[in-house]
This record gives sequence, C-alpha cells and structure tokens, in this order.
Amino acid sequence: MKYDVTVIGAGTIGLATGYYLAKQGATVLMIDAYDPPHQQGSHGGETRLIRHAYGEGRAYTPLALRSQALWNQLQIESEVPLFKKTGILSFAKENSTFINEIKQSASHYQLPLTMYDHNELKYNFPSVHLADKATQIGCFESESGVLFVDQCMKTYRRLAQAEGADLIVNQPVTDLVIDQDDVHVITQAQQYTSQQVVIATGAWQAQWFDQLNLAIPLTPKRQVIGWFDADPDLFDASVFPGFTAETDEGLFYGFPSMDGSGVKLGRHDYGMPVDPNQFERDFRYYPEDEHILRSFLEKWMPKAAGKLKKGKTCLYTMTTDEDFIIDQHPHHKQVWLAAGFSGHGFKFASGIGESLADRIMQRESTVDLTMFGFDRFDKVICND
Ligand SMILES: Cc1cc2nc3c(=O)[nH]c(=O)nc-3n(C[C@H](O)[C@H](O)[C@H](O)COP(=O)(O)OP(=O)(O)OC[C@H]3O[C@@H](n4cnc5c(N)ncnc54)[C@H](O)[C@@H]3O)c2cc1C
Repeated sequence: MKYDVTVIGAGTIGLATGYYLAKQGATVLMIDAYDPPHQQGSHGGETRLIRHAYGEGRAYTPLALRSQALWNQLQIESEVPLFKKTGILSFAKENSTFINEIKQSASHYQLPLTMYDHNELKYNFPSVHLADKATQIGCFESESGVLFVDQCMKTYRRLAQAEGADLIVNQPVTDLVIDQDDVHVITQAQQYTSQQVVIATGAWQAQWFDQLNLAIPLTPKRQVIGWFDADPDLFDASVFPGFTAETDEGLFYGFPSMDGSGVKLGRHDYGMPVDPNQFERDFRYYPEDEHILRSFLEKWMPKAAGKLKKGKTCLYTMTTDEDFIIDQHPHHKQVWLAAGFSGHGFKFASGIGESLADRIMQRESTVDLTMFGFDRFDKVICND
C-alpha cells in the first residue's frame, strides 16, 4: 500500500500531526522506534506547563491560544482529563525581559494577567520566600496550567487510529530514499512508500538533518526533574499554581503537588549536551542532578524542599535561537521536518499538529508557522 503521508517519530509532535492528517482524510502511517508515550525521548516526566502570555516571545501567543483551544476540544471529545487549570505564577527580578514580554503579550492579545510588585507578590504567595529587601516582581496568568503528557499522547494515538491511521511501534526507521514521486521509508523489517513524509524524531533529528544535507545544528541536552515532598497546605494544586522563576541561580519551572505527587521542579537553562543513544539516564548519577533543584527550593520555597520522592532524566533538542524548526525541505518538497523544540514544544503540539497537517494537505494553515521556517538561517544546505 502507498500512503499519502508517513510520519517518522510518533512522539509529541508526530502523533498530533498524524491525527490531524488522518482527520483531514489522508492515509497515514506513523512509525516509532519505541512504543509512545515512553521515557526515552523528550516527553517523559508526566506533566508540562502551558502558558499563553509568552515570555519567550509574544509571536508564540496565537499558537499557544490555538493549542489551548484544541487541547480543550480534545478533552471534551475524548472525555479524558488532559488539562488542569492551575494558573501560572512567574517571578523574576525587576526589569526582567521575560516578565516584560509576558506583560506585552497579555496586553497585545488581551489575556487576563495580574501583575504584582514585590510587596503584593510576597502577600499573595506566602509560600515563595522573598527577602524584605529583594526586588522580585511577578505576574499570574489564571487561564493557563498543566497538561498531562501520557493522557494527551494516548488520546492522539487512539483517535488517530480511529481515523484510520496505521501505527507501527518498536521499529526504528533506518533509512530514507527519495525519488521523483515517492519517499521510501526503511526499517530493519520493512520498506514503506508514501507521497510525503514528516520527520519528527525529537532528540534523534540531527541524523536526518545530516542525511538530508541540512546545515542546521541541533543539540540534544540531558535534563533532570525531581519531585520533592512539600507542605500540602502550601503547595497542593488547590492552593498553589504552576510557576516559572528567573533567578540569579538560573531559570526554573515547576508544578504544584498533584494528588500527593510533591512539587515537581526542573531547570530550563541547565543541561548537558549528549548523544541520545548513549547517555546517563539515571537521575542522581551526577551529584548536581539533585543539588541544582534542591538548592532552588531551599532558597525560594523552603517548605517544598522535603525528601526527594523521585527524579527523572529527559531530553531537550536545542536550536541555536531556541525557536522551533517546522518546514519543508528546501530541495525535497515531499519531506517535512518538525524539530528543535528547545524545551518548550509540548504545549504547542496540538496547534502545530493541526497547522502542519493543513500545510501538507495544502489547506490554509490555521496558525501561521512561517516564523519556524528555514529561511531565518543564513545557511540551510551544507554544500550550497
Ligand atoms: C524535562 C522537560 C520538561 C519540559 N517541560 C515543558 C513544559 O513545561 N512545557 C512545554 O511546552 N514543553 C516542555 N518540554 C518540551 C517538550 O516536552 C518537547 O519540546 C516535546 O516533547 C518535543 O517533542 P518531539 O516530538 O520533538 O519529541 P518526542 O516526543 O521525543 O518524539 C520523538 C519521537 O521520535 C521517535 N524516534 C526517534 N528516532 C526514530 C527513528 N529513527 N525511527 C522512528 N522513530 C524515531 C522517538 O522514539 C520519539 O517517540 C519539556 C521537555 C523536557 C525534557
């Protein structure tokens, strides 16, 4: 059988894209090296924050809003709890570019956002430890919150198959042959043919960029996340939101305790460049794994710095500008690439999946993805 589209990598972005393609009537094959959701790539660790007023750049906000609408729709259609509206608190030093961008983004798109000066922040969030003479400011976005990774991905997987998509798991794609009309996707067991292909292999994408002669560097990074025993009266999701914190010690993000999980914490601007096929997956292998997280909690949220309940590793795939790459190959129009989600892609999977499917099916794209195109780089093809 010849498919309309093969999606290589049925992870966060691949499953969503496969679902929207199938929903639009394409014949779709999705292939994954593992059995998603799994812990090997970039979607491990149970939960993800979704923010709308976007500190990384207000240009992301239309995609964030569309993505939220699609998650809500999916939650209603599937009757599976995918999202919890915890709200998100962000705090940083006065004059923080990140907080300023959140503010501009909220004002431009008329999103609900409460700004706090230092004293208001201290008063409203007593569980955050702020010294009297410090200068932190903050903001609270009430409509944002937490996505449940496994439920989101299992739902896309199930619904994509219900729309007729085929899924092959535990079969790494080893090669790709592109000819005039078709793309042949090769695994150790089989060869599959389709008109178009989407390559969304997360931390493994660099090998395909090399094979396809793309000169865009991608760096997989080992990240750590830990869950810490926290005072439930102060940090349960019923009383405490998700959070981001820009501090002198680094950029941290975290989650309230949900059903006794403890507070979950990660550090966004810290991670070791690694080979995704060969790196230390054990949390606490390096002493700093726990230390970088615990020292943040001890300083800023001491009542959440209890016993480590569990820790995990996960992979980021960084681009040089930390913006995503979603585009057609400049020389092979039947090849689409979606990669480099730089540690902030999960929340957008629904919106990206829909809009990428629109582009592949030559429909008007729901959200404009051109800011993620190759033409922002000086050099795209290696030997041009
Ligand atoms: C610790 C951590 C915290 C994060 N927090 C947030 C957050 O709060 N909010 C947010 O929005 N984002 C967050 N992110 C980022 C987000 O999770 C990622 O951007 C997103 O999951 C990337 O999706 P992906 O599809 O590129 O990768 P993946 O979900 O890993 O999917 C890639 C898939 O490709 C498959 N694959 C690889 N090679 C092959 C092959 N040769 N053949 C077949 N299949 C293959 C893999 O098995 C995998 O299933 C976080 C990431 C980490 C690691």
